[in-house]
Amino acid sequence: MGRGINGAILKLLRAEDFPCTVTKTWMHSPTMKALRISSPEFLRTYTPAEGEYLRCWFPDPDHPAKEVMRGYTMIDIDPKAGEFTLLFLLHQPAGPASRWAETAVAGDRFEASYYGSSPFSLPPNKPEGFIFVADAAGIPYVNALADQLADSFPLKVWLLDWQPSHHQIPLRHHQNITIEWIQPSAETLLEKAQSTDWKGWYPHLVCEAKVLLPTRRYLLKEAKIPKDFMYVHAYWVQGKEMGKSRELSDS
Ligand SMILES: Cc1cc2nc3c(=O)[nH]c(=O)nc-3n(C[C@H](O)[C@H](O)[C@H](O)COP(=O)(O)OP(=O)(O)OC[C@H]3O[C@@H](n4cnc5c(N)ncnc54)[C@H](O)[C@@H]3O)c2cc1C
Repeated sequence: MGRGINGAILKLLRAEDFPCTVTKTWMHSPTMKALRISSPEFLRTYTPAEGEYLRCWFPDPDHPAKEVMRGYTMIDIDPKAGEFTLLFLLHQPAGPASRWAETAVAGDRFEASYYGSSPFSLPPNKPEGFIFVADAAGIPYVNALADQLADSFPLKVWLLDWQPSHHQIPLRHHQNITIEWIQPSAETLLEKAQSTDWKGWYPHLVCEAKVLLPTRRYLLKEAKIPKDFMYVHAYWVQGKEMGKSRELSDS
């Protein structure tokens, strides 16, 4: 999509683009690269919570006149220093964002926008616990929420086991957290959801879209979990690119 209508919508939503500069990079695991980002202007304007995400614009290597928008989760936010960290899964097939991150070095720049995505808040009725369904790209989100919740609630983390290398991505460990790797298929996840007693348990689904959808439907229609008590976000789509693009000349 060009910037025309898209740009107008972003303006209406008051999304501003903030300049971001990479200050440091390191490998967080063999398949996940960490980028420390400086964006003082953004962190002077907003106070995002750990686990919220930014919509980042990266160059499209196949179309030099274009940039693509992709979501990435902010962690280790330091408002005083104007810095935060993003963790990029270096997946195959790669896309513009993962390709950009793979070669990113200190000094590289990009723009990002933030819609004030509502940070996590506790449901009104005291939950029994939380169930997270994620794959590698969702681990930064799960770890961020685990830091906020694990002292007070049991957390079950179901991770979609796409690749053995994903097991090397660091996970939060805590006596209240149980972690289980499951086959990454819509059927397996649905069966697991169907054999779970959801009473008082709040789901967070942050994984591949096609795996997620039947379980989302089941939780809403059969398990009767109100929409407001679920956090559901498709993070990527197998075999498809994710997100919008804009023409550089329009920006
Ligand atoms: C709210 C939100 C927060 C997110 N936070 C993070 C984060 O912190 N870290 C992170 O790594 N990702 C995160 N993601 C996921 C990330 O935005 C997507 O994986 C995105 O598609 C990557 O863009 P790309 O340009 O590399 O690939 P695309 O151009 O979107 O896709 C190209 C190819 O790569 C494949 N692909 C894309 N993503 C994956 C994947 N995760 N695993 C395997 N194959 C994939 C596609 O199926 C396609 O074949 C987040 C997504 C959302 C919506």
